[in-house]
Amino acid sequence: MGLHLDLPPTQIPACPRYPVAKLGGLIPAKFIEALEQNQKIASCCRHPENHEIEALYSSPAETTPDIYIFHCTCGRKHPRFMCGGGDVRPFWEVR
Ligand SMILES: [Zn+2]
Repeated sequence: MGLHLDLPPTQIPACPRYPVAKLGGLIPAKFIEALEQNQKIASCCRHPENHEIEALYSSPAETTPDIYIFHCTCGRKHPRFMCGGGDVRPFWEVR
């Protein structure tokens, strides 16, 4: 098993994939800035306002989402893992 998996195997959907731009101020600025300022990713991926985002729980024990995944238009995924308190964990519903 030489594969490195970035995501835990038991993730559970929390919030549906949705355009970042339509969520407006719900997404913390530091999520956005982390992508905008990341020199290691493709230039398209540094425009999170063009991405979609989904939220997941890493296990059934979680009561707030602890994995957020940005989906770039190029198909790349940029996960962000949360742990501990102190950080805002946005939650949205799409009807
Ligand atoms: Zn991209």
